[in-house]
Amino acid sequence: MPSRLKLLKSLEIDAYQLRNISENPDPNGQTDWSIIESQVSTCKACQLHKGRNNPVFGDGDMSSDWFFIGEAPGKDEDLQGKPFVGRAGRLLTEVIFSMGLSREEVFIANILKCRPPDNRDPKPGEVAKCFPYLEKQIELVKPKVIVAVGRIAAHSLLGTDLPMGQLRGKIHDFGNNNIPTLVIYHPAYLLRSPSKKRKVWEDLQLVENILDNDS
Ligand code: SF4
Repeated sequence: MPSRLKLLKSLEIDAYQLRNISENPDPNGQTDWSIIESQVSTCKACQLHKGRNNPVFGDGDMSSDWFFIGEAPGKDEDLQGKPFVGRAGRLLTEVIFSMGLSREEVFIANILKCRPPDNRDPKPGEVAKCFPYLEKQIELVKPKVIVAVGRIAAHSLLGTDLPMGQLRGKIHDFGNNNIPTLVIYHPAYLLRSPSKKRKVWEDLQLVENILDNDS
């Protein structure tokens, strides 16, 4: 499977580099979080900053075992500055609840921090610019499991263009630390195809087995 960097290189896209914040001496990492959130709030690295009402940094437990990642803010998220609100967000909250967790016990963010116009798919250049923020968030949270919510998020995270049918139902790995990564259907799709909810439940069981064996 091609790495994300190889995929970007094949598209002749330079990965955007965050200013180095890893030298921050704060042992709790809180200052790192403040710095990265401040960088996102003023970021103009891609054209999406022009149309945003609010960047959507992400929220939840900053030391959670679980890191959920969607593709980009939609209209409601852009207005509220929070990930996964509205109907699809409520369904994701139910999915999380079905795992015995509250939304506050996981961390949720998106590949892109600003809303693409008309909810179009993220462009590769936008992903390249924004991805370092997400990578830094993952580095700080140190999750045991990443859940890619939907096909687009999975493609950006895993550096693949495989169809959803070949992505779900198995454990992938992300990054140098090989963090176990699961791909689930996007809740907006589940709202249109409720019969697929069972598949999400089955997929999440795969990850629970990993966490059980880890504890
Ligand atoms: S989408 Fe990401 S890279 Fe683009 S302006 Fe927003 S924060 Fe910056």
